[in-house]
Amino acid sequence: MKSILQNEKECFYTESKFNLEKHHIMPGAFRSKSEKFGLWIYVRCDIHRGTEYSIHNDEEKLTQLKQLAQEKFEMKYSHEKWMQEFKKNYLN
Ligand SMILES: [Zn+2]
Repeated sequence: MKSILQNEKECFYTESKFNLEKHHIMPGAFRSKSEKFGLWIYVRCDIHRGTEYSIHNDEEKLTQLKQLAQEKFEMKYSHEKWMQEFKKNYLN
């Protein structure tokens, strides 16, 4: 499934087209649903993980992405479907 958060194959934060990795916004048990519904973004590998400034070390960024994912998902489907699939409300 294509990402519903971005159209171009480029880093979500820097627009770099090199060293891209896919970040699944809804992790753990929801990772496969995250793929299925396009709730992922491309990020440059150093911004993805393994550095001090990477999003995996930034709870605030991880939460912002979940909020954005929920917004985009609900525009396409519905709030009810979000709650059914992902169980938790990240908005408000
Ligand atoms: Zn990731």
